[in-house]
Amino acid sequence: MPYKDLEQNRKRCREYRQKHLEELRDYDRLRNNTEKRKQWFRERDQKRERKYYKKQQNKKYRQEHKEELAEYNKGYQDKNKAQLQKYFANRYYTLKEKVFVILGSECSNCGCNDKRILQVDHVNGHGYSERKTSKKIPFKNIEKNPEKYQILCPNCNWIKKSENMESKPRLQTKRAEQKRERYYAKKRKAFDILGNKCVHCGNTDHRALQIDHVNGNGHKELRQINLNGVLNKILAEEKEEYQLLCANCNWKKRYDKQEYFIKLAVPTWSE
Ligand SMILES: [Zn+2]
Ligand SMILES: [Zn+2]
Repeated sequence: MPYKDLEQNRKRCREYRQKHLEELRDYDRLRNNTEKRKQWFRERDQKRERKYYKKQQNKKYRQEHKEELAEYNKGYQDKNKAQLQKYFANRYYTLKEKVFVILGSECSNCGCNDKRILQVDHVNGHGYSERKTSKKIPFKNIEKNPEKYQILCPNCNWIKKSENMESKPRLQTKRAEQKRERYYAKKRKAFDILGNKCVHCGNTDHRALQIDHVNGNGHKELRQINLNGVLNKILAEEKEEYQLLCANCNWKKRYDKQEYFIKLAVPTWSE
């Protein structure tokens, strides 16, 4: 920044030149030595070219050996499955701890403070669409505008969901409606067979009750035979594998037995 007062500026420049006399002379010599300058520029250009060439070659290699590389990656994942699962689970839990610091670690409806089961809820719904666009926890969004989110226990979350009709049916034709009605009738029958209440705590609120697989593996079975298949199985009196749990008890069981994606994680929270 030059001084506004011209004379003062001149004085300042003179002082600087006298202080750094030798450095300035060296710099001048280098600048006026055209050969050296040319070489410097040449070297810089060569460096840039080499970098660009390497990038292009890597890209080409990746495109040509796509299948081999995918196989290699798969092999790596299979070999180090336990380690990777542990890593991702730990990352998930550390992120969740940060979320608890921002939003508080209490259900904002009933005050339940069991960290094993607490969930992040979107106050105005639309959680599904946000999760679809970004697979991670929308942590940055939570940091930016925390008023859009709240902490709920699973029971309160499911009850709120059914009260506000947050999950609207996709198809609204007559045929789809009939199908849905048939499904709900089946579900009601299955609930009657299984006792109509949570096995652990005796909760009888239908909106929060869930069918649980006693030995875990629910995720795998759902992929094979669908929810409809499970209901059919219960109606055919093969009900030993299943029990009714409220959402809170289900999530507690899931965490304690390390079912689903939190397999091999080190449980960090307790009652
Ligand atoms: Zn609650
Ligand atoms: Zn329960």
